[in-house]
Amino acid sequence: MKNLLLGVAKRVATSETLVRPIAMAADLLMSSRGCLTTFHRGASSQDWERLPNRDFYLDLGFLDQFLTYLAERGWSIVTMEEALRRSKLGSPKDRFINFSVDDCYRDTYEQVVPLFRRHHAPVTLFVTTGIPDGTLSLWAAGLEDVLLNNDRVTLENGAIDVPTAEAKREAFHRIASSWDGPQAAARYATFCKLNGVDIEAMHWKHAISWQMLEALRDDPLVEIGAHTVSHPRISSLSPEHARAELQGSRDRLIERLGVAAKHFAFPFGRSGDCGPRDFDIARAAGFASAATTRKGLVRRDHQDYSLPRNTINGAHRSLAAMELHLTGVTGAAARMMGRV
Ligand SMILES: [Zn+2]
Repeated sequence: MKNLLLGVAKRVATSETLVRPIAMAADLLMSSRGCLTTFHRGASSQDWERLPNRDFYLDLGFLDQFLTYLAERGWSIVTMEEALRRSKLGSPKDRFINFSVDDCYRDTYEQVVPLFRRHHAPVTLFVTTGIPDGTLSLWAAGLEDVLLNNDRVTLENGAIDVPTAEAKREAFHRIASSWDGPQAAARYATFCKLNGVDIEAMHWKHAISWQMLEALRDDPLVEIGAHTVSHPRISSLSPEHARAELQGSRDRLIERLGVAAKHFAFPFGRSGDCGPRDFDIARAAGFASAATTRKGLVRRDHQDYSLPRNTINGAHRSLAAMELHLTGVTGAAARMMGRV
């Protein structure tokens, strides 16, 4: 069935009218369908267009439309906890979806959770505790902000002009890829000095705070999970360091929010970023599940510590593209192409 769907999907690309039959076929052929999704930041449709790093954001106008569409099509929007319970039951015709926000920025509090609230839908927040603690450099957010709000910026080797949205996007990707790695925070600190940016104020302009998280914790529609302390690629760490990242984020959420997070999400989350050793560490740290970003649907026989999750940031702004996740076609395609 998947090969059939994949063939159709290739031809229709993201056509809205032609995806409907795929969804109908999936309804007929698959008994229960569970889909976990994730994104990072949310932006209004107008802002999304002009953001230098817009692929890191989900267009909230589109999310609004998608949440309405899901309700109309009979999908239940559920917490991770409920998604795991339902996936084990595998009730015929059950269709459920979870949305998780990874990292957590200020817009999670100001825009994303309020949108879910308007739809009476739950949302899971996988918090990187170094963000509200102010210990993790939000260098990409800061770089993006400076590019967005200035037509000329100074780099270590001189100034560049970024007068248009396109120039800002191009500059963001070029600079971010040259910084990426262990030196990113130091390069960003230098950049802030060169451009007269108050690095502390910039952090709190984009970070979620513990105060905001306290308010969200008390919202019955919000489920809080953990996403490490400093957002490292877990597979690259020593076992001790990996344990400290997982356990540390769990302990910190207990300490600051009184929440014993049951669910964890691996940073980056692709197969090179977390493996069997790391799945064991998640179990030992006391989590009931751990999610990756390997595409696909949650199966009845899934492994609790390597759950598939579909990333829906950026260019995924068509209901047709979303249907391909909901039918499992994107997961099948990723596996076929070895992109897991
Ligand atoms: Zn993340």
